[in-house]
Amino acid sequence: MRPLCGRIRIDNCHVQSKPSAMDPPRFLIQAPEARSLELEQSSALPLTHFLLSLVSSALSLARPPISNFPVAAVGLGSSGRIFIGVNLEFPGLPLHQTVHAEQFLLTNLSLNAEPRLEYLVVSSAPCGHCRQFLQELRHAPNIKLLIASDESRDFTPLSKFLSHRFGPRDLLPDEVPLLLEPRHNGLSILDESHDLANGYIANEELKRAALEAANKSHAPYSGFPSGVALMDAGGKIYQGSYMESAAFNPSMGPVQAALVAFVAGGGGKYEAIVAAVLVEKKGATVKQEGTARLLIQSIAPKCQFRAVLCCSGAPH
Ligand SMILES: [Zn+2]
Repeated sequence: MRPLCGRIRIDNCHVQSKPSAMDPPRFLIQAPEARSLELEQSSALPLTHFLLSLVSSALSLARPPISNFPVAAVGLGSSGRIFIGVNLEFPGLPLHQTVHAEQFLLTNLSLNAEPRLEYLVVSSAPCGHCRQFLQELRHAPNIKLLIASDESRDFTPLSKFLSHRFGPRDLLPDEVPLLLEPRHNGLSILDESHDLANGYIANEELKRAALEAANKSHAPYSGFPSGVALMDAGGKIYQGSYMESAAFNPSMGPVQAALVAFVAGGGGKYEAIVAAVLVEKKGATVKQEGTARLLIQSIAPKCQFRAVLCCSGAPH
């Protein structure tokens, strides 16, 4: 039997209706639904602690075939929506391709244009990599964090978990948009000529989706934003934007970000991904194509992969 939390099951059911085995997993709970569930659970429990009750259910959504150590991160945004993040591991590839639950969570917030993460509950203590990646949020020190296994049940500011922070403010002027803040990178498709040379003409809709993802990419440190769009066998498209970290290594690749969209969007096995397009700048110093191709080929060997170049401003 799959885990339950009161009347809410986030692994494969609707909250207010009768569960069905066909329902996809839940990675986002809308604000009105979250409030009604909070009231239903217990009037004595604030919404922040309701997050804790979702963690065990969320663990079943993780995909950690290497470590067999599922991790879940449940966050409350300033809109009142609840977001779920889990870890994703990829056999046959280096470990640094792994998506951590907190990275999944921030990608999920970004995909849904959530402006701010207020509260975060994690199943295990966040690793240093994730404490650093969270610094990309402008208000990172004030995020309230609870580790599910802690007996105290008290939320603690993230600043207590990572004092003497190194982050965006060490490298960027104040006015530069940070993660979750609106931006448009002003990119345009530059080069259409390589389509035929690769023997694969990228689907126009998929190419536009990848360009849109690149235009939302958070790449203020390198200046080389990128985006990926995936298509499954049913024609559904999933977008992912590259997201950099001030400390570089915790950066989230564009394929990983798109895979978060795939998993959060109800995608099943990765083999269902049939086409992928990467958009990145011509002559990029930070180039995604080789790594993106490797990752796609490893998880979905029959997927057609296409890299498309773009430039800042209008094409010339
Ligand atoms: Zn981590």
